[in-house]
Amino acid sequence: MKTMEEVLKDWEAVIGLEVHCELTKLNTKMFCGCKLEFGAEPNTHTCPVCLGLPGALPVPNKAAIENIVLAGLATNCDIEKHTMFYRKGYMYPDMAKNFQTTQGPKAFCMRGWLDLNVDGKGASERPIMAQLEEGESAENVTRTAEGYTARVGITRIHMEEDAGKMIHMGGGEGRISGATHSLVDYNRAGTPLIELVTEPDLRTPEEARLFMQKLRQIFLALGISDCSMEEGSLRADGNISLRRRGTTQFGTKTELKNINSFKSLHDGLAYEICRQAEVLEEGGIIYQETRHWDPSAKRTIVMRVKETADDYRMFPDPDLAPYDLSDEFIEAVRAKLPELPDQKAARFTESFGLSGYDSRQLVENMATADFFEACMQDADAKLAKPLANLINNDIAALMNADQDFDLASSPLTPARAVALVDLVAKDAISSKQGKEVFAAILEEDKDPAAIVEERGMKQVSDTGAIEAVVDEVLAANPDKVEQYKGGKTGLIGFFVGQCMKAMKGQGNPKLINQMLSQKLEG
Ligand code: ADP
Ligand code: ZN
Ligand code: MG
Repeated sequence: MKTMEEVLKDWEAVIGLEVHCELTKLNTKMFCGCKLEFGAEPNTHTCPVCLGLPGALPVPNKAAIENIVLAGLATNCDIEKHTMFYRKGYMYPDMAKNFQTTQGPKAFCMRGWLDLNVDGKGASERPIMAQLEEGESAENVTRTAEGYTARVGITRIHMEEDAGKMIHMGGGEGRISGATHSLVDYNRAGTPLIELVTEPDLRTPEEARLFMQKLRQIFLALGISDCSMEEGSLRADGNISLRRRGTTQFGTKTELKNINSFKSLHDGLAYEICRQAEVLEEGGIIYQETRHWDPSAKRTIVMRVKETADDYRMFPDPDLAPYDLSDEFIEAVRAKLPELPDQKAARFTESFGLSGYDSRQLVENMATADFFEACMQDADAKLAKPLANLINNDIAALMNADQDFDLASSPLTPARAVALVDLVAKDAISSKQGKEVFAAILEEDKDPAAIVEERGMKQVSDTGAIEAVVDEVLAANPDKVEQYKGGKTGLIGFFVGQCMKAMKGQGNPKLINQMLSQKLEG
């Protein structure tokens, strides 16, 4: 198979996502008063409504509707004031009602969009970028200093309910194949879910990944879900097709179902791009089918061919009256909107002079954004950049390596982080020593000043002392000095290393560098 880079020269990928998010912060189910509780004793949170018993009447959960309106407002959607709930035929034992209550052609939230910031390697996957100057736009993208922004349309966000859970017994690893019987737990049946559908505006797996990440940041900021991809409270279906570059008609799409990590979303789509290209280039056809991404086998396999809309037999739910949202309700929800990640990033750039890139990285995670903000409460403005570096590089690496690392309760308090970057900024210790102090704070739970003191760390910035060492090193290596003057300027690293060694790692590298250049060029 060709690589994705090769395929993308001739083909353009068209991608649209369908994202499901469980509203885990609610207390009760979508249409009844049953408690929402993960991991409770099976079938302890059920009632006639969520079991679909005859005569039971559903009542919409107002708090859930507030959540979806929040999601809509945060993603630039129009809020539909007059909507209806529909029944969608569903014939599987994990939903006792035999239908799923969902929304019809008009959802609570319609016609939204999000802007993605694509930078780094991912930005090169859009060939049009090469033809644009900074600030110029084409298709749905605008070139930026670091890559591009892409505007992705959101078709709708609608409300629906989750099914219960089947547990298959007697087969291998709880799988249905080989099972002798199945058990069903209805605790989850009727859990409020929102489904967000994007327009087919995404063009690369990286854009799809960034879209999911951004959506997750927004939903977390709104406090409507814990958005755990591992536990399945946030999951995505990726729809993808290919078309020849330069053509406009969409190809037939396949759908990758129930993707449960950002990496799987990216890798599954990247694989599908290569697979579809191979089929098409060999003259074959793509069937509209649902496929499953297997991360360990690194390929997708067919699950089933697509059912058509007719199979669902959607019709308005006669038990639920048309639902009207008042202006007062919508405005009351709008008043509850918190500062969103993009707004926070813009404020960081504006107030602290950080680049857009640095600010966006800080807000990728609420913990790091809050930490940065706590640091800046009483830090000098010129420490903003080194603090952002500390957080985005060193702290982010810690958080990536250990999912359980809790920044808010770690020994690295904002005050200690400020003290640390301040020591480096004023050349009291070198940046290399700074790394050592960083590790020591976490290990020993001490203040940076105490660590520096105990370990006898200091940085020699006395130019006289540095000059003496530089002279010594140059005198000891006349051959290397000749080579340097002959054009091998890369030797500067060697000279700096020798000086550092002579100064037991305590020389100020910036001053050593300056002094060496002066003497060698002079
Ligand atoms: P379906 O009828 O199969 O459910 P929809 O039109 O409802 O398809 O779209 C479902 C998702 O698939 C949306 O996110 C949409 O943007 C995306 N999509 C639609 N057509 C294509 C296509 N040809 N290629 C890739 N994605 C597509
Ligand atoms: Zn119930
Ligand atoms: Mg559809």
